[in-house]
Amino acid sequence: MKYNWSIIGHEKQLLQIEHDVASGNLAHAYLLAGPNSIGKSTVARKMAGILQCKNDFCHECPSCLQVSKGSHPDTFEFANHDDSIGIDDVRRLVERLTMTGQSNYKILLIRKLERMTVPAANSFLKILEEPTERTIFIMTTDNVRLLLPTVISRVRIIKFLSSSVEFLERKLRELFPEEDAETIKKAGLFSLGMTGRAVRLIENPDILAHNIKVYHDVQNLLSTRNISARFSYLNDILEEGGAVETFLDMTTHVLRSKLLEGGPDTRKHLNALSKIDDTGILLKKNVNPRLALENLMLGL
Ligand SMILES: [Zn+2]
Repeated sequence: MKYNWSIIGHEKQLLQIEHDVASGNLAHAYLLAGPNSIGKSTVARKMAGILQCKNDFCHECPSCLQVSKGSHPDTFEFANHDDSIGIDDVRRLVERLTMTGQSNYKILLIRKLERMTVPAANSFLKILEEPTERTIFIMTTDNVRLLLPTVISRVRIIKFLSSSVEFLERKLRELFPEEDAETIKKAGLFSLGMTGRAVRLIENPDILAHNIKVYHDVQNLLSTRNISARFSYLNDILEEGGAVETFLDMTTHVLRSKLLEGGPDTRKHLNALSKIDDTGILLKKNVNPRLALENLMLGL
């Protein structure tokens, strides 16, 4: 690959983006589609970094640093993390587009496009139909089927898949020929389909052990409806550095496994997965962690 993405896996998708950039055949709107928590937003931000950097995505220039921190003046991360994106939000997007920019492109990153209400989507369509020059939308969705066909027909879709446990185990065996089979298996299992994460688990046995412990905690928590037990667990993880992230990851893992089993609770599990994703975003935005997590606990 030409650019330093620092992402293992999703190779086909990254190569397609690189090809579009190199051939000058960029779409004005991209939709990165696939299950939640497999790194679509990360890819979106890196793609923005590639487009804005004047030095082949060097990771060092002000432009690269600003995009990765979310503070680039012409790379606008749509900040709404509510359940829906309304018509007023879309209006604000249009205003943002009319401002003159100094950079290579004006880029708008929008997470979970499926949150857009129908009136908002219809208004958004007009922007997609008559895009401003050098404006690129990079959007993600967990579920293409929830989008209006008219919107889908105006974007270039890049489909993302979570890597299978088998693929990850194979990759890990290549990367760590000395490692014992049991560790490889566990790292693959708890990687949430992300190779980068699997590698980190193998390189840090403490983190792997912590993941296994939290995995069992989450299974116990989800099987109880006892809210005070759940809240008291929150107290514990809020005091430990890094524990919240592991908790969210393991809850995602447990719910995804339940989803694969099928059954009457499919919709409930999908909702819960989406809530976990939102909670992760809220926490990055400096929302009170206790509040965000208590809310999540009530909704699981
Ligand atoms: Zn750069």
